[in-house]
Amino acid sequence: MARRHLAGVFLLSLAVGFLPGAVRAEAPDYHLAPEAVADGVYVLWGAQDALTPENGGAIANSGFIVGDEAVLAIDPGPTALFAQQLLDTIRGVTELPVKEAVVTHHHPDHAFGIEATVEAGIPVLMHPAAAKLLAREGETLLGFMTELVGEAWTAGTRIGAPTLAVETPQTIDLGGRAITVTPMTGGHTPGDLIVFDEKTRTLFAGDLVFIGRAATVPHADIPTWRAHVAALKAMNWRELVPGHGPLVNDPAMLDTLDAYLAYLDDFARTAWNRGDSPAEALMEPLPERFRGLAQVDVEFQRSLLSLFERFETHPPEPR
Ligand SMILES: [Zn+2]
Repeated sequence: MARRHLAGVFLLSLAVGFLPGAVRAEAPDYHLAPEAVADGVYVLWGAQDALTPENGGAIANSGFIVGDEAVLAIDPGPTALFAQQLLDTIRGVTELPVKEAVVTHHHPDHAFGIEATVEAGIPVLMHPAAAKLLAREGETLLGFMTELVGEAWTAGTRIGAPTLAVETPQTIDLGGRAITVTPMTGGHTPGDLIVFDEKTRTLFAGDLVFIGRAATVPHADIPTWRAHVAALKAMNWRELVPGHGPLVNDPAMLDTLDAYLAYLDDFARTAWNRGDSPAEALMEPLPERFRGLAQVDVEFQRSLLSLFERFETHPPEPR
């Protein structure tokens, strides 16, 4: 049984933090390959890996939806370069203009292409709470991203601001195709958006759904997130594109995510109330059913540390 030691987390983050970035003479290529998951609905699949110089930060799923008159882009990705290459990729599929772009939340792997998208003349929609967090944390997070993936990828990336705030559900008309953008507040982050294509009943759920990868909780409210997962399960979609992981075609595929969030929440509260240090808590092995999740060792440690940090100012209720 692998034991998770707190010291390991710090050593790992130091090691990762000081990895040299990729040194390349010219701009690297994300080699974006859109897959049609439904009629006119395309996904660019992110790697189920950490942020590395190999993937340039492209670890989250992005996508676009093509109507009769216009296109909607979803999550312009981790860098300006990704956003530009996403727009090039869209132009390779259709001559129709990109009307708007939705950014599901402020996390770097989804949102750092905002400025390049706005510069391309495309209005960017975001939850107002996400816009606030991006403005507050963006520069710091971009520094981390550059350390992890290398400057060749992040060159030219600037923390932008979205152009439109989505506070209530909105419908975007792409010509013969209605897309609904709905705020989901306070779950994975304080400000997530989901995107629903009525025509094919395809739902882009952003990071409210992780499949096959450990969910990240540094900005999460876990009980609210679990309520959102239950709401997502009950929605009338045929296919769901998660923020991370493969296409979902059965609501039961969300059960592992919900169980992982429940376990993490309960584990952290119990360990805190028992007076454990993070290192002591992490001696307990992870249940079998979660061990296959990508990045789970690193993410579980990181999650526990961030929950413990929060408990210092907001102690959990004893149970
Ligand atoms: Zn996220």
